Amino acid sequence: MLIWGYRTRIFVLAMTTFLCGRCGNPASHAVRKSVTKFTLFFIPLFPIHVKYTAQCTFCGIENRIPKEDAVRLQAQEEQAQQQAAQPYPQHPSQPQHPSQGFAQPQGFQPPHPSQPQGFPQPGRHPQQGEFPQQGR
Ligand SMILES: [Zn+2]
Repeated sequence: MLIWGYRTRIFVLAMTTFLCGRCGNPASHAVRKSVTKFTLFFIPLFPIHVKYTAQCTFCGIENRIPKEDAVRLQAQEEQAQQQAAQPYPQHPSQPQHPSQGFAQPQGFQPPHPSQPQGFPQPGRHPQQGEFPQQGR
C-alpha cells in the first residue's frame, strides 16, 4: 500500500519593513517561502508548489509576491544585517591606530607619505612677534 501525500514547509526568508498595501502602515513584513512537496511514505520527494508571500505583522494580511521580490528582499535583509554587524568598514589605505594591534607593520613609516613637508609658503615670513604669545 502506498502512503503518499503533501507536506508544506514554510521558510522565513526575511523580516523587512515596507508600506503595507492594505492598512497603509510602514509595518514589518514576514517574507516567507512556502514549499509544498509530494511525499511518499512521509518522505518528501520533490516540490510541486512553491509560493512566496509577505505577511504584514500589523494587520495580518498575506500577499503573494513574485519570487524576484522575495529574493531581492532577502538580499536586502542580509545586507542590512551585515552592515549592522560591521558598522565601521575598514579602509586599508588609512593608517590604523597602533593600539589596535593589527598585523600590519607600520611602525617606521612617515605618517603622511603623500604630503611632502617643507614647501616654502609664499607671503608668510615668520618673524618674531607675528604670532600672539599665549600664556607665557
Ligand atoms: Zn497591513
